[in-house]
Amino acid sequence: MSMTDRYVVLGNPVAHSQSPFIHAEFARQTGEPLEYGRLLCALDGFEAAVREFAAGGGRGCNVTVPFKFEAPRLARTVTPRAVLAAAANVLRFDAAGWTADNTDGIGLVRDIEGHAGQPLAGRRVLLVGAGGAAAGVLGPLLETGPAVVVVVNRTRSRADDLVARHAALADARRVHLAAAPIEAPGVRFDVVVNATASSLQAAPVPVGATVLAPGALAVDLMYGAAARPFLEWAAAAGARGRDGLGMLVEQAAEAFFFWRGVRPETAPVLAALRARLEST
Ligand code: NAP
Repeated sequence: MSMTDRYVVLGNPVAHSQSPFIHAEFARQTGEPLEYGRLLCALDGFEAAVREFAAGGGRGCNVTVPFKFEAPRLARTVTPRAVLAAAANVLRFDAAGWTADNTDGIGLVRDIEGHAGQPLAGRRVLLVGAGGAAAGVLGPLLETGPAVVVVVNRTRSRADDLVARHAALADARRVHLAAAPIEAPGVRFDVVVNATASSLQAAPVPVGATVLAPGALAVDLMYGAAARPFLEWAAAAGARGRDGLGMLVEQAAEAFFFWRGVRPETAPVLAALRARLEST
């Protein structure tokens, strides 16, 4: 019997995923005996693929597009942040029953506050998007206690639904949370998060640059060459642009902790990943 524990990321597509590189670096750094691969699933084959991997001795998995909404249904326990997101990006195969979690939001918050050095408490935040990624990040953003969070989305009703689902949390944290039309999101936000697929599609940034306060932080969840137009948009408006690579590494670190109980250092892995992507 191998002493090496096995994990995978399941998705469709999945070939582009940087998670195997990140988790291999975490394993090397911490000495945790694990290996981590990619598993391409048929679009109607997610549950079967997860069960087969677990039956073969797998200990847990990451879940990516388009299966994050299906993942919580396979678990006996769903963490509160995954319940709020209605989506999970990580499963742990405990003998007593599986657990689903969502580490995307805490990944974004740690990148913004830790790596980018931008506090969120008391600030004005604009969240653009209401898909899976936006749903995963809104709860953890509210937990940091910003003064205001406005959510806008191309399909307005999805922003309304997301805001309604998070209203109680916003009240508890004394955050003014509202949805607004994407054509009129408001002006001068300290932090703007583009959680839409606009950069992935090479489409224009979905909001005007007047949303940016002077010196604002503008984060796109995309990374690599596809994020460059967004970073240029931010720089042209005098904002600090940031791509989604830091979030990617931080959500992975939280997943690693969820599986192994060991917290890896993220800064060297983020630097190594950035260098690796820039050289390709
Ligand atoms: P999703 O569930 O498919 O949602 C897509 C969102 O983008 C929706 O709000 C959609 O609006 C909006 N949208 C799509 N095309 C648009 C356009 N041309 N203009 C304006 N809005 C548009 O996707 P997702 O899972 O949320 O992922 C969104 C992005 O985040 C992807 O680029 C993904 O790679 C990235 N992401 C990064 C990380 C990371 O760790 N860095 C983690 C998760 C996701 P409608 O509701 O109107 O369709």
